[in-house]
Amino acid sequence: MTVLVTGGAGYIGSHMTYALLDRGEPVVVLDNLSTGRRALVGEGAGFVEGDAGDQPLVRRVLRDHGIDAVIHFAGSIVVPESVEQPLRYYANNVGTSRALVEACIEEGVKAFIFSSTATVYSVDATQPLAEDEPKEPISPYARSKLMTEWMLEDAARAYDFRPMVLRYFNVAGADTQGRTGQSTPKATHLIKRACQVALGRVPHLDIFGTDYSTPDGTGIRDYIHVTDLVAAHLLALDGLRAGAAPATYNVGYGRGLSVREVVRGMEAVIGRELPVKESARRPGDPPVLISDPARIKVALGWQPRHAELSEIISSALEWERRLND
Ligand code: UDP
Repeated sequence: MTVLVTGGAGYIGSHMTYALLDRGEPVVVLDNLSTGRRALVGEGAGFVEGDAGDQPLVRRVLRDHGIDAVIHFAGSIVVPESVEQPLRYYANNVGTSRALVEACIEEGVKAFIFSSTATVYSVDATQPLAEDEPKEPISPYARSKLMTEWMLEDAARAYDFRPMVLRYFNVAGADTQGRTGQSTPKATHLIKRACQVALGRVPHLDIFGTDYSTPDGTGIRDYIHVTDLVAAHLLALDGLRAGAAPATYNVGYGRGLSVREVVRGMEAVIGRELPVKESARRPGDPPVLISDPARIKVALGWQPRHAELSEIISSALEWERRLND
C-alpha cells in the first residue's frame, strides 16, 4: 500500500507528501522537476525524476513500489501562459493525464485523485458554487482540467477504475511546521505577492480592480489553507481504499474574502500598513469565486481546521522569509 504522488516536488504535492509521511504511509514522488524542487520532497519518500506521461516509466514505478493509489498533481498551472501556449497545456495536462490513467488501469491501480480547479465553473454560475453548477472554463488551463475530468468520468464508467476529482479554490499558506511552502519566485497569487511586499522584496501590491460589483469593489475569493486542502486528499484516499465510488468535490471553505480584506489581514499580522496601488482589473479575473463545500463535508467528513486568515497569512509569510534567507 504505497501512494504515488505526481508533482510531489511542487507546492501542493510537497505538502501532500509530508502529510502522508506524517501518518506513516509509504510514498513515492514522481516529478520531472520542471517547476518543482527536489529539496521540497520530504525525507523518507521515494523519489523518481521523470514525467507522469512516460508510460513505461510509470508502469515500472507502479509495479516496483506496489502502488495502490495515485494522487496526480503534476501539470502546468499558469493561466496567462496557457493562453499563449495552449497546445503545451493540453499536452502537459490532458495528454499526460491520459497516459497516466491508462498506465494505472493496465497495472490494476484503481484509486486515483485528481487536482482540478474552481475555474471550470461558468462565471455566470450561482455563488457559492455547488459541484453541479454549469461549467464554462474560459482559459486553456481550465479547459484542460475539465477535459481531464471528463476523461476520468468516462474511464470510471468503462474500466475498473475509481477516480476522485477535487476542485480547488484559492490555495494559500504553508506547512505549519515550516517544512515546505509556495516557492515559485514568479508566483502571481495574492497572498504570495502580499508576503513579498510585506518583506520588502517587492515595492507594493497591486490591487487588480476596485470597480467590481462587490461590497468594497475588489475581487472576492475563497482562500483555503493548504493543510486543509491536503486533509481533503487524505479523506478521499481513505474513502477510495474503503471502496467509495468515483466522485467530484469542491474544496474551499464557503467563505469569500475581498482583496482589501486580505490586505487588512496582512496588515494585522505585520502590524503596519502594506503599500498598495489601485490598478486596473486583470484580464480574465471573475469578480467572485466561493465554494459550497457541503458535499465534501457530508460525504467525506471534511472540516476546515486552519481557516483563520491570520494563520494562512502567517504561515505563508514565515515560509517566504525562509525562502531567501
Ligand atoms: N490580486 C490582486 N493583486 C495581486 C494578485 C491578485 O489584486 O497581486 C487579486 C486578483 O485580481 C483576484 C484575487 O486577488 O481578485 C485572487 O487572485 P489570485 O491570483 O491569488 O488567484 P486566482 O483567483 O486568480 O486564481
